[in-house]
Amino acid sequence: MVFVNVKDPASIPPGAWTQTIQNSNYVAMFYDDVNTMVFRTDMQEVPLLRVLIIFHEFRHIMQAQNPLPKVPNYQQIREVDAYDYEFALLDKLSLPHWNEAVSTERARLRPSIRNNIGFKTNLDDPNAEKVFGKFPSTVSRYNAATIIMLRSAFAEIDSQFSPPLAIQRKIMLLKGMH
Ligand SMILES: [Zn+2]
Repeated sequence: MVFVNVKDPASIPPGAWTQTIQNSNYVAMFYDDVNTMVFRTDMQEVPLLRVLIIFHEFRHIMQAQNPLPKVPNYQQIREVDAYDYEFALLDKLSLPHWNEAVSTERARLRPSIRNNIGFKTNLDDPNAEKVFGKFPSTVSRYNAATIIMLRSAFAEIDSQFSPPLAIQRKIMLLKGMH
């Protein structure tokens, strides 16, 4: 396992990694093909969000060391698993305004999820700042709004569908984001 701390993306030597790292919006990213975890300490982020993203990436390290069954859509199932893990942690923190943020967002998403209609992240979600504090950048605000949207969508999907169908719906949701 290699840990890389990027303090200045402009200082990365030219090569395959330059674009990969410079195009990433994430404060941490695990690359399983080269068994390397990259931290972006040049990017400002709310500490709590940084830690959550790091835990999500550590889940990918655990998956690489103890792989899930290699089914055809393994990459997507691995992603759903990492988010389920991240959200379970987040729920346990009992953050002020967290339940309110999720219940408001679930109510917004409920009809779309029931009728299988696409929806957008609510970047102006006033609860995002109440939960996570002031955002140091627009990327940070986007990350927070995305976490609230995804957590709420996952909860709503889990309440509407049986586990095998829920996994498929979560995969569709994550695919639609990229
Ligand atoms: Zn992931």
